[in-house]
Amino acid sequence: MLSLYVHIPFCRKRCSYCDFYLVAGTLRMEDFFVALRRETASRASLLKGQTIGAIHFGGGTPSMASPSLLGSWLEQVASLASFAPDMEIALEANPEDLKGSAANEFHQAGVNRLSLGVQSFSPEKLSSLGRAHSPREAMAAARDAVRMFDSVSLDLICGVPGEDWGVWQGDLERAKESEAQHVSVYMLSLEPRTLLSRDVSAGRVRVPDEGEQAGFYMQALKELKAAGYGHYEVSNFAMPGCHSRYNLASWKREPYIGYGPSAHSFLRTEEGELRTANEASLSRYLSSPQAAEGFREVLGERERFEEQVFLSLRINSGLSIEFLRKGNTLPNEMMKALETMEERGWIRYENGTLYLTDPGFLFADLIAAELIP
Ligand code: SF4
Repeated sequence: MLSLYVHIPFCRKRCSYCDFYLVAGTLRMEDFFVALRRETASRASLLKGQTIGAIHFGGGTPSMASPSLLGSWLEQVASLASFAPDMEIALEANPEDLKGSAANEFHQAGVNRLSLGVQSFSPEKLSSLGRAHSPREAMAAARDAVRMFDSVSLDLICGVPGEDWGVWQGDLERAKESEAQHVSVYMLSLEPRTLLSRDVSAGRVRVPDEGEQAGFYMQALKELKAAGYGHYEVSNFAMPGCHSRYNLASWKREPYIGYGPSAHSFLRTEEGELRTANEASLSRYLSSPQAAEGFREVLGERERFEEQVFLSLRINSGLSIEFLRKGNTLPNEMMKALETMEERGWIRYENGTLYLTDPGFLFADLIAAELIP
């Protein structure tokens, strides 16, 4: 089963903490879809004979595109590949784009899962993040979406400037009240070259420290699990059967094709396992979308092992100890590192498989790095 990702690189304006590849405004949206159709046609051989299990429109802000543009691209893909009967078609959306009939029109175009970039229900927190929607718009969009779509996910962010326990608790409560089937919880990370990062470096604002961040994360784990959400990936919680199929497939190293500037692909070809990335340039994409690729790497045994370790530890299916032992060139050192992690309460074992504990998820990348000599 194959997944597809489309990077739609437009936003109204850049949020203070965001370092994704995007351009402000929608002036080139129609040109982008022309280029997207050209890129899709030029890579049609990758779709031949394939069944698509999930399509994810990400960005940027894909909900700024018109539903008819999305729909016509979906029709093009349907002419080149088969769609699984229960295929997920997910759209990342900002609440301010779903007023009036917009949500219904996206639904009519084929979207069956909405991932809402709510981030918070607190006006102060939304303002400090530079978000364009109000708490009222966020809740209205979430409630409408839950009525309309098969599955709805809310993104929440914690650890923003000035945040305290009361604000974060309020966000978790509102998320549960919305009855969204899925919640993604992100700890704010200060990316270099963002406005927020510059303000923090200059001492103009203070963000919660790592200890406070960890506390917010653990609070989310406790609250969301108690409300019935399963914790299936470091940042992701879902009611039964409502996980993101596209994301889960990519964490399980299943193949996907990424379209649009800066989009990544993972493919299994005659050359071997292949990771590619399109160039992060809208202007070059518009002029020659059939030559968008800017990076290509055939993965060797070492890279495959490392990816498997990093990605498997992020999800709740765990990692076989035997697999770790075979791939590790220093198995004795690895076993010692595992002993220390177990003493710290970061990992647990069950039937020869290693799992992260709740506190262990805070250190998923560090643990993975320790297991790769
Ligand atoms: S809406 Fe999302 S993608 Fe766009 S600037 Fe804000 S955080 Fe980044």
